[in-house]
Amino acid sequence: MNLCTTLKNLRTELPPGVSLIAVSKTQPPEVIREAVSCGQLIFGENKAQELIVKAPSLPGEIEWHFIGHLQRNKIRAILPFVSLIHSIDSFTLLQAVDKESALLGKTTSCLLQFHIATEETKFGLDLAEASAMLSSPAYKELRNIHIRGVMGMATYTDKTDTIRKEFHHLHTLFDYLKKNYFSEQDEFREISMGMSDDYRIAIEEGSTMVRIGTAIFGKFRDSAAGG
Ligand SMILES: *Cc1c(COP(=O)(O)O)cnc(C)c1O
Repeated sequence: MNLCTTLKNLRTELPPGVSLIAVSKTQPPEVIREAVSCGQLIFGENKAQELIVKAPSLPGEIEWHFIGHLQRNKIRAILPFVSLIHSIDSFTLLQAVDKESALLGKTTSCLLQFHIATEETKFGLDLAEASAMLSSPAYKELRNIHIRGVMGMATYTDKTDTIRKEFHHLHTLFDYLKKNYFSEQDEFREISMGMSDDYRIAIEEGSTMVRIGTAIFGKFRDSAAGG
């Protein structure tokens, strides 16, 4: 199917208030440009090196989201391009993003990534870690980050009840944090959950941002630009 048709069909499935992050990892610039010409302006990348190679040559109107595991030594390189980091999975990472943002004179929007899957390998905070962080004096000193919500990835499984439970859990975590730490902050309102295979369940469980790659672009390509 034609890329514009795919994007249009996908968008008609999304309720108002749910944004579509087109995950363009491994896709070459010309494919991203084509998606832009179809009206898609938000793209997600999961590798710092790939993002900094691709972003400079692509239209400035693109809103880049960083969705992968972020190493501290890559923060400085990606900050000029990113408008939202979905994958804050430790306090030290958040502090480092704050520090680098301050050096650039900018404020960076971030989501807290939670470990909601049963798989051991997925990155993310748990509620105890997030609570300890958000109530610490060191957190209150951060001036150059805005936390805008939460992100999570469900277990890779066919069992839809497992996936639904994990997304439901993320929504519960969001509600808890909203009530206890962000009740005065309107900007804390995003729940980033749902990928190609599970975005419909995620939407039913209250997602506000779906991150979709394969269902838009087809299978990811082997040779990523810059890896
Ligand atoms: C690759 C990726 C996606 C998109 O996955 P698809 O199954 O291709 O839609 C979403 N989120 C993250 C963090 C990813 O790395």
